[in-house]
Amino acid sequence: LIDLDGTLLLGRRPAPGAKDLLTRVRGHFVVVSNDSEHVPSQLARRLQGVGLAVGPDRIILAGVCAVEALARERPGARILLLASPMLQRYARRCGLQLQRTAPEVVMVARDRNFSYAGLAAAADAIRGGAQLMATNPDVSHPGGDGQQIPDTGALLAAILACSGSVPVRMFGKPDPQMLYEGLRRLEGDPRAAIMIGDNPATDGQAAQRAGIQFVRVDGAMQSQWVASLRVTENELSAL
Ligand SMILES: [Mg+2]
Repeated sequence: LIDLDGTLLLGRRPAPGAKDLLTRVRGHFVVVSNDSEHVPSQLARRLQGVGLAVGPDRIILAGVCAVEALARERPGARILLLASPMLQRYARRCGLQLQRTAPEVVMVARDRNFSYAGLAAAADAIRGGAQLMATNPDVSHPGGDGQQIPDTGALLAAILACSGSVPVRMFGKPDPQMLYEGLRRLEGDPRAAIMIGDNPATDGQAAQRAGIQFVRVDGAMQSQWVASLRVTENELSAL
């Protein structure tokens, strides 16, 4: 189970060693990411464009998982979805009704078009009794060249500042659900799996909750990454 941002990708570029890693684990991996902007088909094309061979069936994303969970639990729910156009399209395809007035649920994802009007609508809806959900807790994630890319958690903080403190249903790591889904696709035993990621608070915690060994990598530090690959190789040979 491999994290994406900060692990396989640094910004838009593959991390050092990422291609080697995917070659070594060919056929025995899934990417498990808190990405809440894309859908798997589109992300697979982007990864293939930078030389990382990952099929859409091998990509599990927090945004898509959150939308699917809501559509399963509350079919046809009225939802104010602050998200990318892609995730909004996906939500409609799952049968959710996207609307700004009187939604039952406010769901926030990484929304690059997050606006003052959207913030006001979300806070109003929550004060009116709508349930607040967030696709992933990340406040930011590493981009290329030392940048930090603002993520869903930062937008959630703005909403909570405006709505007041309310319970938040949170998807994505450190919740272990996506890891269970990954194991299901791999037909894998948690004891024989490892989670490779850069963030102990999300990747590490999720792995611990799922009973999976965690290998931390830091894409910005070549030596640590290479050392981690050696662990990976040992783990693989033990399978
Ligand atoms: Mg990461």
